[in-house]
Amino acid sequence: MPNSKFLKSSFDYKGEYPCPLCRVGKITHLTLMEAMSCDFCHQIFSVDIEQQQIKMPSRQPPLIWNWNGFHWTEAQLEGVELGWGYVMAALAFIFIPTMLVGGIAYNFPPKSDMPLTWIPSIWTGFTFLCHFIIIFWLFIEIYQIPVMAYWRALQQRLMRHENS
Ligand SMILES: [Zn+2]
Repeated sequence: MPNSKFLKSSFDYKGEYPCPLCRVGKITHLTLMEAMSCDFCHQIFSVDIEQQQIKMPSRQPPLIWNWNGFHWTEAQLEGVELGWGYVMAALAFIFIPTMLVGGIAYNFPPKSDMPLTWIPSIWTGFTFLCHFIIIFWLFIEIYQIPVMAYWRALQQRLMRHENS
């Protein structure tokens, strides 16, 4: 079995592979099951050796990763194509309201002797932040990024750093 880093290696039950979800842990075979689990985020993946593919069945629609001989490809939602249309829509959702609010603030500036002249610029920033957070949250929801697992890893690393 070619196991060198420089050789394309096929995906099987014997090996250790990077976890495609948290990208921190390693996934290994669960004995007697057609599944692998991650030693870090404890996510369980069902395995399709023939297709060189693993699937995360704990969510609907399942997320799929394909092994290309070197690493996992980008996550795909089964039966859903997340194309450029969605990216453009997400960007439009963030930037169009920000530009509208910013444009109004820019074109109709409050007279400088009025109080609270900082409100339009704060409001523009706030609009951007709100819309950005909504998209960011959707992204995390769709891909089920284990935010808490990352947070725990970070804390552990910090604690180790303090103790040493
Ligand atoms: Zn993991």
